[in-house]
Amino acid sequence: MELLSKLRDEQRLALVLITHDLGVVAGSADRVAVMYAGRVVERAPVLDLFASPRHPYTTALLECLPRLDQRHDVVNSIGGTPPNPADLPAGCPFAPRCRRAVDACLTDEPTLVRLGVSDVACSVATAGVGAGESV
Ligand code: SF4
Repeated sequence: MELLSKLRDEQRLALVLITHDLGVVAGSADRVAVMYAGRVVERAPVLDLFASPRHPYTTALLECLPRLDQRHDVVNSIGGTPPNPADLPAGCPFAPRCRRAVDACLTDEPTLVRLGVSDVACSVATAGVGAGESV
């Protein structure tokens, strides 16, 4: 990562990292796009995303990270399995695994909506945000 950062700075490049390693994200990214089932579900500046995740999938991902300041007998995981991206269910693709899901999540497909400095595709998290604020 250090080599990539050096090249980025020397060559004045933009660097796009695709990774499951949230430690790498935290240490190297300015902005983060979290994807689920092939779709961006949350976009935010990196510090805001880690401090205040808005999408339930982002929240669940961060809860799976082991922490040095806590004792862990079991590492958290997100229950269930991801859907087949070639055969996505109706509604929100995360609904079968989401702790915040409501009935409408099974039928209504969420779109990215501006929420503060974040863009979030969750109709529960963005409830009450005006339609004109969709991105
Ligand atoms: S739209 Fe519903 S199922 Fe999807 S992430 Fe939000 S609360 Fe969960």
